[in-house]
Amino acid sequence: MLANTLTLNDGHEIPRLGLGVWQARDDEAAKAVTHALSCGYRHIDTAAIYGNEAEVGRGLRDSDVPRDQIFVTSKVWNDRIRAGETAEAIDESLKLLGIEQLDLMLLHWPTEGRNIAWQALIEARKAGLVRSIGVSNFLPEHLDELVGETGVVPALNQIEHHPWLNQADIKLACKRHGIAVEAWSPLMQGRFAESPVIGEIAAATGRTEAQVVLRWALQQDIIVIPKSVTPSRIEENAQLFDFELDAQQVASIDAIGHEERLGPDPATFDF
Ligand code: NAD
Repeated sequence: MLANTLTLNDGHEIPRLGLGVWQARDDEAAKAVTHALSCGYRHIDTAAIYGNEAEVGRGLRDSDVPRDQIFVTSKVWNDRIRAGETAEAIDESLKLLGIEQLDLMLLHWPTEGRNIAWQALIEARKAGLVRSIGVSNFLPEHLDELVGETGVVPALNQIEHHPWLNQADIKLACKRHGIAVEAWSPLMQGRFAESPVIGEIAAATGRTEAQVVLRWALQQDIIVIPKSVTPSRIEENAQLFDFELDAQQVASIDAIGHEERLGPDPATFDF
């Protein structure tokens, strides 16, 4: 049976399931956070650029779940990385969220200035402002360069990952460095019906398509942060630890072969 948490390379535990809140606005974000916590989520993924850290903070405070049982991630946006203002960005995120320490802070994209920003994250960790530090959208060459220049290995790399984008090369690089992989857009932004094999496996297992694609990622030791603000979907997306896909089902999803990126390509994204 798969444990609910995974141990990062710095010894801290991260829940394998988190709630994503990109594009969740105002009250919607606060309510989604509180509801997710009430149905078992213990991990929330936000970012400065989402503009909802204050609402996420409100959702945390409105919940009965104690702060020390919740894993909160935020991300430093590119303008701050480029300007060398990572320390300021961390302070702002902490203030907006209304918390004293982030469980995980990520560099959102591998933009110019990333290695200097990484030093600032290392300092923030020493100062106790963040517990774990990581990156997002880093390609193998960015990881190699960061580790080579600073000697400090990120705990995690958050990347676009779903059945249409298998990211074999990045997963291999992360494994080589001992970096955990976290999937963004793990639900293919809701477009799983376009690959009928997912529906067939859902019918065979008595699970929903969303649960099947999330479980497929979990079985590769990938952390998932599905987004929803709909209470019933938030609940559905958390029912992942009481069933298993067999090797044939995993292989059928691996073999979908439809290659499609849903977000920007880190190699060409105009930061
Ligand atoms: P996702 O793959 O999680 O899809 C979310 C969408 O799928 C929802 O808006 C809804 O339309 C649909 N959906 C959700 N649950 C469903 C269900 N049970 N049945 C049917 N449809 C359902 O997409 P996402 O929001 O792009 O990614 C998840 C999270 O990843 C984000 O909220 C954010 O926290 C993070 N993210 C990070 C980056 C990055 O650059 N680091 C980029 C994008 C997203």
